[in-house]
Amino acid sequence: TMAHSKALLVLENFIGGKFVTCSSYIDSYNPSTGDVYCRVPDSGKEEVEAAVKAAKDAFPIWSSKSPLERSRILNKLADLIEHDLEAFAQAESKDQGKTITFARTVDIPRAVYNFRFFASSILHHTTECTEMATMGCVHYTSRAPVGVAGLISPWNLPLYLLTWKIAPAIACGNTVVAKPSEMTSVTTWMMCKLLEKAGVPHGVVNVVFGTGAKTGEALVCHPDVPLISFTGSTLTAQRITEKSAPHCKRLSLELGGKNPAIIFDDADLTQCIPMTLRSSFANQGEICLCTSRIFVQRGIYSEFLKRFVAEAKKWKVGNPSDPTVDVGALISEEHLEKVRSYVKKAQAEGARVLCGEGVDSLTLPAGNQKGYFMLPTVIAEVKDESCCMQEEIFGPVTCVVAFDTEEEVIKRANSVKYGLAATVWSSNVGRVHRVAQRLQAGLVWTNCWLVRDLNLPFGGMKASGIGREGAKDSYEFFTEVKTITIKH
Ligand code: NAD
Repeated sequence: TMAHSKALLVLENFIGGKFVTCSSYIDSYNPSTGDVYCRVPDSGKEEVEAAVKAAKDAFPIWSSKSPLERSRILNKLADLIEHDLEAFAQAESKDQGKTITFARTVDIPRAVYNFRFFASSILHHTTECTEMATMGCVHYTSRAPVGVAGLISPWNLPLYLLTWKIAPAIACGNTVVAKPSEMTSVTTWMMCKLLEKAGVPHGVVNVVFGTGAKTGEALVCHPDVPLISFTGSTLTAQRITEKSAPHCKRLSLELGGKNPAIIFDDADLTQCIPMTLRSSFANQGEICLCTSRIFVQRGIYSEFLKRFVAEAKKWKVGNPSDPTVDVGALISEEHLEKVRSYVKKAQAEGARVLCGEGVDSLTLPAGNQKGYFMLPTVIAEVKDESCCMQEEIFGPVTCVVAFDTEEEVIKRANSVKYGLAATVWSSNVGRVHRVAQRLQAGLVWTNCWLVRDLNLPFGGMKASGIGREGAKDSYEFFTEVKTITIKH
């Protein structure tokens, strides 16, 4: 018999520079085993109130520091996270289900870089000035931090996405109350342990853990939080917009996608196929930028499909902590069922499932039998109107369809409610520019995927979001501008 069950990890809120216990907790699962391994505070109005107060109290001092002072602190925090990179990567993989390789090479390095990037970019902004000689006037703009920023992030890239908000918010002189997803809170809690050592004054970064409905909504409705930066689903964004409307809050919304890859018959398939596999299945397909509609020009359609499916079958699904594994576990049992249900619907509509779910068998290590795993799945002959071609699936499922002309594919690629990202594969330079100009997407990659320069805007059109984030865009979002006119 087991004398002692293994002690659960218990997280605490971080308010005013101190860890504080909460009156109730939520279970958090290890997606690769199905076991509860962690308890997360189930914060409500009271905890949010305390965090907002701490952030408000810290604002006068933090906002009056020079950009250089703030920059030094952000760089120190980046160094401290980097020093513990392996521990952060292990924790992210265990908490989220993603592979240790992905956490080591993408999530945590990017979290570190988010702080370094904004530590630098904050030093280089300039404001505008115009002269009006005939009136004897000069005009200039000045920018000041807004106040307490509410930051809400999803479960797919936990520390990566939350630090993409915390870094610019505090670099600009705001103080923050952050809420990660209740399913992936551990790495944010670990980061809180480093704040004091980095020199972040108490109350500048506060974290309240808990659910969206309770913790998130309390933050969104708090009258002393004038701006909300949210990354998550379009449905939640609608709710946040409604709830914040009475306060006229400033919102930045980074939402879902249904991203097309358009592959012309002059594409270099030796580059295109491996990259399109990555864009479809990386992080279990749980990236807002993942490709889920692949349009292939008729002349290369069967060759592409044959090679793509053969390669997809080589992706190894299994224990995320095994460095040879390509696909880890999905976030939850509920999400796995949702993703699977799309494959069933496609089959019921007469589409062909070429590999993966329901077609191939999945063998898992003994310790992972209850984990939320699924094989990379490729579906062909799906109608454009099908829910599989219209709705965000957010799992390792991708649809491949044929097209004939450039004009036709642009129209079909644009015929969804989303507009986040698109990729175009062609060796015809004129064509890639033409097509990129006409796609309704905030980001277009040609002959590559997920290459990001953080200086430039990131965000979606249509139901994929409102606003952009990036060096200049985040600076504008997290500051209030004023135009001042001087007559001499
Ligand atoms: P979600 O909308 O369910 O949750 C996101 C966050 O919002 C969580 O922290 C959640 O607790 C909170 N939340 C939920 N209801 C809330 C409410 N009523 N008020 C305030 N907060 C609330 O999204 P998810 O399932 O965690 O994440 C997946 C989604 O995120 C996908 O749609 C994906 O495309 C999107 N996403 C977008 C981007 C982007 O940059 N555009 C990046 C990553 C993920």
